[in-house]
Amino acid sequence: MTPGRPPPARPPPAPEPDPTADQASKDAMSNATTVSPAHSASTASTLITNIAALVTNDPSLGDRSPLGLIQDAAVVIEGDRIAWTGHQSKAPATDSRVDADGRAVLPGFVDSHSHLVFAGDRTQEFNARMSGRPYSAGGIRTTVAATRAATDEELEANLTRYLREALRQGTTTFETKSGYGLTVADESRALRLAARHTDEVTYLGAHIVPPDHADDPAGYVALVTGEMLDACAPYARWIDVFCEKGAFDGDQARAILTAGKAKGLHPRIHANQLSQGPGVRLAVELDAASADHCTHLTDADIDALANSRTVATLLPGAEFSTRAQWPDARRLLDAGVTVALSTDCNPGSSFTSSMPFCVALAVRDMGMTPDEAVWSATAGGAQALRRTDIGRLTPGARADLTLLDAPSHVHLAYRPGVPLVAGVWRRGVRVV
Ligand SMILES: [Zn+2]
Repeated sequence: MTPGRPPPARPPPAPEPDPTADQASKDAMSNATTVSPAHSASTASTLITNIAALVTNDPSLGDRSPLGLIQDAAVVIEGDRIAWTGHQSKAPATDSRVDADGRAVLPGFVDSHSHLVFAGDRTQEFNARMSGRPYSAGGIRTTVAATRAATDEELEANLTRYLREALRQGTTTFETKSGYGLTVADESRALRLAARHTDEVTYLGAHIVPPDHADDPAGYVALVTGEMLDACAPYARWIDVFCEKGAFDGDQARAILTAGKAKGLHPRIHANQLSQGPGVRLAVELDAASADHCTHLTDADIDALANSRTVATLLPGAEFSTRAQWPDARRLLDAGVTVALSTDCNPGSSFTSSMPFCVALAVRDMGMTPDEAVWSATAGGAQALRRTDIGRLTPGARADLTLLDAPSHVHLAYRPGVPLVAGVWRRGVRVV
């Protein structure tokens, strides 16, 4: 149990200090340019002004769109929170000042779906897939073997590396999962390591049935809902299942998520990624925070999502990296479903940590407008984690901001592949 982490039966939004986020900030700070006098982030106020376009995600502000876009804007950070947002001509006095130089500012990205506790490499599998050659190695099983063989230090060094990479691209909150250990000891180890770096930790013992239980899937479900759950619950906030043909069926997924709920974990589901199935409707039935992937949906699935609190989290890096059919974001949005965008960063099917890349794909190939994609990558991700303190830039929100080297957030889709992130503040501290 990591010191300071809440007990298993916790309410959903639990924003509180996250030691490794601070460590990541410190690490990143060693390479950062100091922008203001050496005030402690706990007391100082900083004005960021001369912002050409500020995305607040508060529809009562600015242009009254869902993005609450304010032109010629300023933001005041006080300690680790946003203290003021508005037109720059009305900004209050502060201790220090940063000139955004006519560029755009938006909330830090909220990456609500990643698999970053792993070891090993699957370059050959990707290369074969992209070369049209058959590849018969073990897929997830390859990563499971490498992860089990790795030391704690190796796993944590790998995790930290991808977190730094994501931070440089504007991600200030991330969720990450177990799922490459698939034994009691290896799953709980993955979650213990992840919990040092984020509050958004997900127990995914039900990723696949591991080879050692291939002849006894029911026995594996019993382990996942029994001894493994007991060992993992103290480190996790969420429980997840890969509900898909070849992984876990609807009845197994329901048993696993229900057992997790009884231990104080809240459900989220890998649903309807490769084929239609029961995952999305199960997510709604269990009030899961999110149904993730949502590529193969029936009209009934979409109706269920639209009439629920469950967010549809779309993961375009997976379709890109496997040359699979794109999820139809337009169909979901037109039906009134809340959509989040996330990377699904993992070594097999989506090895990108870049939220800007996912925004560009969502606009180019999934029918989203640039405004919708930016909202889904910030406020949508926050909603998929049932958080109200992130994903917006309004007074009281956490001071997590991204400064783009561009005059508008639209450039995230307009200039794909370009490293536009020029600055990142996390909890009020400039870290990039
Ligand atoms: Zn995933």
